[in-house]
Amino acid sequence: MGDKTKIEWTDATWNPIRGCSRVSEGCRNCYAETVANRFSGEGQPYEGLIARGGQWNGKITVVDHVMDQPLRWRRPRRVFVNSMSDLFHENVHDQVIDRVFAVMALAPNHTFQVLTKRPERMLDYFFRVSPQRIANAAPSRVSLERCASLLEEICSRWPLPNVWLGVSVEDQTTADERIPILLQTPAAVRWISAEPLLGPIDLEHIQWPGKHKVDVLRRGAWDLPGWVQGFTNHSDLEGLDWVVVGGESGSDARPMNPDWVRTARDQCEAAGTPFLFKQWGEWAPAEFPAWPENADYMTEAGTGHYFDDRQWMERIGKKKAGRLLDGRTWDQYPASVFDPTFDPAEKSKGPLTADPCQNGAPGRSRTSDLLVRSQNDSAEESTTCAGAGNKKRPDSAHNIN
Ligand code: SF4
Repeated sequence: MGDKTKIEWTDATWNPIRGCSRVSEGCRNCYAETVANRFSGEGQPYEGLIARGGQWNGKITVVDHVMDQPLRWRRPRRVFVNSMSDLFHENVHDQVIDRVFAVMALAPNHTFQVLTKRPERMLDYFFRVSPQRIANAAPSRVSLERCASLLEEICSRWPLPNVWLGVSVEDQTTADERIPILLQTPAAVRWISAEPLLGPIDLEHIQWPGKHKVDVLRRGAWDLPGWVQGFTNHSDLEGLDWVVVGGESGSDARPMNPDWVRTARDQCEAAGTPFLFKQWGEWAPAEFPAWPENADYMTEAGTGHYFDDRQWMERIGKKKAGRLLDGRTWDQYPASVFDPTFDPAEKSKGPLTADPCQNGAPGRSRTSDLLVRSQNDSAEESTTCAGAGNKKRPDSAHNIN
């Protein structure tokens, strides 16, 4: 189950959590919600997760028998975490997220691709989580001895090198809201999925909370020539490691202007950031049809769409539309995919403290201009590595939904 997927940028999906709720325009035609609707009847996997109108109702269920699924996969693979939910949904309990991270820590042969539309919750989680807590949340069949060594591994390899954290964005507004928070979250690889792309995004001028804009592709070189207004120095932060762009699919799919894709591609190329073009979706660029015979063709609800910049799009279906951009595929990945020599510690992870086990909760950020939190938000548990083998893991960690 879940071992095969048609998603271009991953090899497998892993869904230990089910359920969600909409947060922005990118959710309007949520694919997961459509699938869940089909299987929401009595006794079916998504029973109780869909409201009467057909939308997610915000309830979450944990699928216990799927939780340790990656530990049974031998061949290394890229694993998309929670394609049918959002790991950082407000109703997913911290202890459930701990369990997911424990499995990811126990499966260093796989690369886990986490994607969320809720980066505030993600950052908040990283403020409070500790290696001890993650080790305690390992599946019950994992021995206490293994948990002790796991704790040591987490302490020495944090952020986990096989976990990529990403945000899903659909336009400039959501990019401005979510990317700065992602950049303050500790991660070996930080990425965005701009799918469905519903408007242009300028990754060289992302609005940082406050007054200024930053270039989120150039790893801290925010003070580019020509920036008169909004100069700032975020040299303690890293930029994006990977950018994925795609158009929308499904019966109500909205068209994506090719120039939005080209802008992202060109900016990534100029900055040396890996870029992957996933798909056009239902709509593909086409030659403008004969005029005026086809005038009634120009309706967004129909099979043609005309963008203001005179770009003509035709609804030809996802398969036919394909994924060529300017005559070729774009399938670039961050260097760390299955690279045993990849060590995130060698990268300057600005927001991180040097040693998560000595300096409080892993991922405590030196910058705090995004989220203001009280002193009480410190780590819930000691982050010392000592004595892990003597601790009994709470069974309750396996009964939370
Ligand atoms: S966050 Fe993702 S899974 Fe949840 S409603 Fe939006 S698109 Fe669907």
